[in-house]
Amino acid sequence: MKAAVVNEFKKALEIKEVEKPKLEYGEVLVKIEACGVCHTDLHAAHGDWPVKPKLPLIPGHEGVGIVVEVAEGVKSVKVGDRVGIPWLYSACGECEYCLSGQETLCPHQLNGGYSVDGGYAEYCKAPADYVARIPENLDPVEVAPILCAGVTTYKALKVSDARPGEWVAIYGIGGLGHIALQYAKAMGLNVVAVDISDEKMELAKNLGADIAINGLKEDPVETIQKKVGGVQAAISVAVTKKAFEQAYQSVKRGGTLVVVGLPNAELPIPIFDTVLNGVTVKGSIVGTRKDMQEALEFAAMGKVRPIVETAPLDSINEVFDRMIKGQINGRIVLTMQETN
Ligand code: NAD
Ligand code: ZN
Ligand code: ZN
Repeated sequence: MKAAVVNEFKKALEIKEVEKPKLEYGEVLVKIEACGVCHTDLHAAHGDWPVKPKLPLIPGHEGVGIVVEVAEGVKSVKVGDRVGIPWLYSACGECEYCLSGQETLCPHQLNGGYSVDGGYAEYCKAPADYVARIPENLDPVEVAPILCAGVTTYKALKVSDARPGEWVAIYGIGGLGHIALQYAKAMGLNVVAVDISDEKMELAKNLGADIAINGLKEDPVETIQKKVGGVQAAISVAVTKKAFEQAYQSVKRGGTLVVVGLPNAELPIPIFDTVLNGVTVKGSIVGTRKDMQEALEFAAMGKVRPIVETAPLDSINEVFDRMIKGQINGRIVLTMQETN
């Protein structure tokens, strides 16, 4: 089968023929129709983070496709079902986190397109118990970004504890942020969108942002403090340290900063302000299978709709170049060519 493979960090991915995965007990084989390109895949290909991915690696954790084969022991999924293979590829099911519905914190988890091969390929295998069931009315290309960008931002908004009628700021209106904005509006929140280009401001306004701020033209912290007196929650999904610092400073007394983006950087937090203002800083990582079900339901009901542009698998290196330059509006979704 054809796949895009990272052989070495910071080098171009190689499009090559690799062996089709062989199933083990409890696994399903998925013929991938579409796979979204998350900035995490770029971090993986660059070896940006303290924990490195396997090499060689087939990235991709927004893969959607049709089950074409099931191994022994699979009960919940059948041939012909449309499923998604997410970042939370599997977890142990037995540790204190798995038992308490916090499986995204499982120390024994595997991650799709990182510690195991993912969806930048014609086929991908996964444990049946952890694949996402795709609602019938959804298009594979349009739903792909929900598998990571959607569930992650939906969860981040949930843990922010912001309530309908309160203000949230989304820092970074990229793949994650443009969907975060839509979940926030669907949840009845008022939204400030912050990014650093006029195109992203335009996108944010079209998606219903109440205030859109180009961080290169005005100081987002000043504007947010002046116009709304600070936000109840700031969600930082940008990939620069500066955005995290500004997001922290945008939060009002008693508010929360949710840290989602993953630049390889430190976030210095002033102890005095954090204590006196009663600010909470929370990390949030993707979402559980239950969060995924809920996030997909929003999409199935038409309340959230990713802005997507398709590109063939072969063009992944150009897609990464555009991502580095911040030249993607919404999400790019790779499509696989037909083979037998
Ligand atoms: P993206 O490249 O599509 O979007 C990033 C956006 O941030 C771009 O629109 C860019 O213009 C904007 N930006 C850059 N500098 C900014 C600044 N100073 N202020 C405001 N905006 C700024 O990336 P993405 O796919 O949305 O992923 C974003 C980050 O989230 C990545 O680091 C990724 O690894 C991480 N991520 C985390 C989780 C999680 O579970 N925590 C899940 C998925 C992705
Ligand atoms: Zn992702
Ligand atoms: Zn576990």
